[in-house]
Amino acid sequence: ASADSGGPTIFDKIIAKEIPSSIVYEDEKVLAFRDINPQAPVHVLVIPKFRNGLTQLSKAEPKHTEILGHLLHAAKVVAEKEGIMDRFRVVINNGPGACQSVYHLHLHVLGGRQMKWPPG
Ligand code: 5GP
Repeated sequence: ASADSGGPTIFDKIIAKEIPSSIVYEDEKVLAFRDINPQAPVHVLVIPKFRNGLTQLSKAEPKHTEILGHLLHAAKVVAEKEGIMDRFRVVINNGPGACQSVYHLHLHVLGGRQMKWPPG
């Protein structure tokens, strides 16, 4: 996982629907789609449609609080739709040391199996 370049990412093409994805939920602000390399039976990514500087959570500023809340709410909607409401995990990897590989903020919604703690 390389560091944040601030440049475009693969998620721009997913948002533009230039490359296909399996969409689970979408509204005017966020897109939720299945991870191409799932780490659990349910593994959905929730991303802002407008990155607005949010390459990673450590770039968050007060202007981002509304979209950050919207993303978390969308994660709950995804868990509900996927039938994992009582047993899901939401993860944000921030930076190379946390295995972030795509520099467009995203929440991982994971479930459908017993989740381990600590995650490693
Ligand atoms: P990160 O490691 O940055 O937290 O998570 C990035 C995630 O994006 C990874 O889990 C990876 O499998 C997923 N991913 C990368 N490229 C694509 C893609 O083209 N389509 C989909 N659906 N997921 C992708």
